[in-house]
Amino acid sequence: MHDLGYLDEVTNRTLKQVAVFFAECNFKELHQSEFPVGDFIAAWQGNIMCNGVDVSIIVALTEGFPDELPKIFLTKDFEYLPIPHVDNRLFVCTYVSESTDFFSENVDGVIRDSIEKAREIISDGIHRVNQSDYEAEFLAYWGLDCKSLYSILEPVDQIRKVKMAIVHPAKHNIAYLVADDENAIRGFAANVNPDFSIQKFDSALYLPLPHPFPPPFPETCKEMFSVLDSYDKKYSNAVVDFLNNNDYRGTVVFSTIINDNYALAGWRHQAMNRKEVLRGFRPGKVDPRVLKNLITNQSIERLQVERLDLDRVQGRVGNSSSALHGKTICIIGCGSIGSWIAFNLVQAGIDRLMLIDKDSLHATNVGRHLCGVTEIKKSKVEAVSERIRQHLPYVRIQCIEQTFYKAFTENQKAIQNCDLIISATANPALERRLNKMQLNVSDFPPVLYSWIEPYGIASHAVLVSTTETSCFECCLDPKDLSFKFQVLRCERGAFTRQEAGCQSSFTPYSGLDANQAASIATRLALKSLSGDITNNIRYVFFGDLQKARKMELDISEEYADASDFTMKASIIQKAPDCKVCSNINNHD
Ligand SMILES: [Zn+2]
Repeated sequence: MHDLGYLDEVTNRTLKQVAVFFAECNFKELHQSEFPVGDFIAAWQGNIMCNGVDVSIIVALTEGFPDELPKIFLTKDFEYLPIPHVDNRLFVCTYVSESTDFFSENVDGVIRDSIEKAREIISDGIHRVNQSDYEAEFLAYWGLDCKSLYSILEPVDQIRKVKMAIVHPAKHNIAYLVADDENAIRGFAANVNPDFSIQKFDSALYLPLPHPFPPPFPETCKEMFSVLDSYDKKYSNAVVDFLNNNDYRGTVVFSTIINDNYALAGWRHQAMNRKEVLRGFRPGKVDPRVLKNLITNQSIERLQVERLDLDRVQGRVGNSSSALHGKTICIIGCGSIGSWIAFNLVQAGIDRLMLIDKDSLHATNVGRHLCGVTEIKKSKVEAVSERIRQHLPYVRIQCIEQTFYKAFTENQKAIQNCDLIISATANPALERRLNKMQLNVSDFPPVLYSWIEPYGIASHAVLVSTTETSCFECCLDPKDLSFKFQVLRCERGAFTRQEAGCQSSFTPYSGLDANQAASIATRLALKSLSGDITNNIRYVFFGDLQKARKMELDISEEYADASDFTMKASIIQKAPDCKVCSNINNHD
């Protein structure tokens, strides 16, 4: 028994096998000093035939080999560059095959397949049959070894002047930010970090180009203008005009459509000698042809543009999030469940929230709340709002640090205009009041009720879309107003603990339980907002019932067969004895 770890053993064994393989195909092992750039443990060099052309390649192995595929590089003497799928480190991107499964036990096979894939890419490149692949990978090539700037521009098909700012401090790496106007930059910066200061505003130009730049990419203004002119003269005219009015320097951001999505990239024009440019012209009035000639040999600096606009960031969400844009959700109660519902909603694509809660965050809350120790004593609505805006700065949040009763009195119109009201207060009296409001106030939005049972034995989400078929009160036992579908049978408040030395009470459940309750409530909310639900529906999620039984807690017979960590959805039926919806004129 020796000290080599399990993975070292695997690697040693594999490398011996690889050495035999490469010896058979006449590849020679490279010394570490000859390795391509990257983290490699071994590399071999040899020649392969690519459709009639003899090509020298390097096969380099990473620490993860054979679970990770070998990386293949071309060597400096390759004469056919640029070709698609090969970057300026000469790395041949065999990505397609990396996304498929392979048997890592078959070491020779893994290497052979990778070389075959590379052979295909190189052959296609040499014979120019995969030129169109450039477009799809345009951003990757354009952005190589470039400075980057962030964009919250809304990409549209119109040449226009936009704004760029240097934001300070360069926290979160957001140093250069481009947006439609100064207000957008200010709002974004303030949301990310309220202490953010904007150092300097500058104008920038936005060009919606019909195609990406073809390789090789332009390095001088002349080369850049020649491509722009081949698309349409208006693009180079716009650039010259922009430089004329921006002190003969500046940043150009362009968009192009790749795979049905806007891709953004840019370049920068270095400052020029003003005197030399002006010579006989007034500032901003240099003859465009003269200016174009003057800058023709100037080099341009390519820029990578990272899209941080709403469409891009939230467009990646795997649902029809565009249907959620502009919808406002009112959340009453920003405690352990409400705070997570708020966060889940914005991650799902909601960009407008109204948060109502009068309380501040206490030390006893943080174990299961979205916010933590650093936010203790802050108002819950502010703490949650800040968290969310740091994460997704476009979300607009109205914070109301009041009780629901006061908030409603003062903001009835705004609350009624919300697309959904979510009650995460676990306050039965308030829930019943909301139900009566929904019945009696015209144009009241759907209401969703979310709460959790002691020990997280179950969590509930009840959605009342319409009071025509049933209402929240239909779920309550008219005798004692307890929830008819409760999983744990107990007296109301039987498990509520009084916090020592303070007035607040505490129901035992964990942060994970709170998260779970928020998760089913969010899912039901999203269904409601997307219009998929017209009925009144309730979800119940069962927690650790096995543990509950061990604790000898009394579980309702109705759920005797329920399994741990499963969910059940039911339609809410009208209760014939419901005192609220059977008598619409009940105005209490
Ligand atoms: Zn009812």
